[in-house]
Amino acid sequence: MPTGDGLLARVHPPLGILTLDQARAVAEGARLFGNGHLDLTARANLQIRGVSEATRAPLATWLAARGLGDVRADGGPQRLTLTSPLAGHDPNETIDVPALARAIETAGLAIPGLPAKTLVAVEGRPGRALPEADFCVVAEGPGRVAIAVAHGETSRTLLRCADDAAPGHVAALLGAFARTGRRRMRDLSDGEMTVLTEVLPAEKTLVASAQAHRGFAPEREPARPAGGGDLRSVAVDAPFGRCTADALDRIAATAAAIGSDEIRLSPTRGFVLLVPATASDATAAATAALAAEFIVVPDDPRRAIAACTGAPGCASGSTPTLADAARLAAAFGTLAAAGHAAHVSGCAKGCARPGAADLTLVGRDGLYSVVIGGAPGDEPAMDLPIEAVLERLGRAEIDGLSAAFAPEITPSACGRTRRPA
Ligand code: SF4
Repeated sequence: MPTGDGLLARVHPPLGILTLDQARAVAEGARLFGNGHLDLTARANLQIRGVSEATRAPLATWLAARGLGDVRADGGPQRLTLTSPLAGHDPNETIDVPALARAIETAGLAIPGLPAKTLVAVEGRPGRALPEADFCVVAEGPGRVAIAVAHGETSRTLLRCADDAAPGHVAALLGAFARTGRRRMRDLSDGEMTVLTEVLPAEKTLVASAQAHRGFAPEREPARPAGGGDLRSVAVDAPFGRCTADALDRIAATAAAIGSDEIRLSPTRGFVLLVPATASDATAAATAALAAEFIVVPDDPRRAIAACTGAPGCASGSTPTLADAARLAAAFGTLAAAGHAAHVSGCAKGCARPGAADLTLVGRDGLYSVVIGGAPGDEPAMDLPIEAVLERLGRAEIDGLSAAFAPEITPSACGRTRRPA
């Protein structure tokens, strides 16, 4: 995929898990065939940045030799399922999540015509919020699951069944979905949804228990027991979903040092290590050592801010979004603690967060168009340099974002409003 800093190569580790050798190979591949920078995605995948036409083929060969190559060539999803990074080790799970996810992946490979971004979330902990996905297979108790689909802004439970029957039902639904020609399940009309449910056995079709879509519920525990009292998890997130190949090497070295033989990718754009509880001292020291490069505490305001590559990495950007997002984060702590989210986008494309945020900054000619409560393509209130945005943020803690960015407030000397003051 072309970007401002070259091509982007996606890496889809099976079940979002890398062995330490694979992690080191991804880091080395990013240095050899890319520009040494990596993205961590909200689907718990990796992207190697700065690949060129000359290096894309050798990189693909490099990854395939390490078990990280593409698994299908028909344009369908390279990885179909999304699971918790603690899957298989979480004491709250009532089903075998890795086994179920593998079975669904296998079934999905046989279905032609699936859109590339089709997603099946497998959640093994009863009662958890449904993630935002085309299909959700959610545990309801020991060996029992519900299968739900996205439908408009809601999620609709279609059937309940034994966990070992779920892959077959999901495969039937995936096939019916592919035949609609739609790109996302949520876009199906009521009529298409009715046709889709006809692939399910009539006696099992429950239906139409619709519930509000609550969105994806990311893991945000920094470190806590992960299972049976003999493992702990260490979770670190990459600021704004970016890290370097050298940082990935350091994650692998840390994992090896504290007795973990794999690295799990998290939908919070980070890494999770499972380590023996007996290594608690070493674990704490490792977490502290990684704090310089990664987010290690739950209330870090960078978690509330999305940012794209921007300038200079992306040719479409005119502002240094990642650096500016870091500056914004330093002033956004109170607002983040109050539940506000921000987005620093290099242009109106909004790659990092297509939807609305409480505060959206859209780079344009070196300034930021400020959108309050909207998406990058929405009408901005004004254009400001980042310094003026930070200045107004101080007022926002007291007066709220809308008041702080109201056009009638006298802009700073270097800012300019789009509307008359
Ligand atoms: S939003 Fe614009 S500037 Fe940012 S990565 Fe996407 S295309 Fe580039």
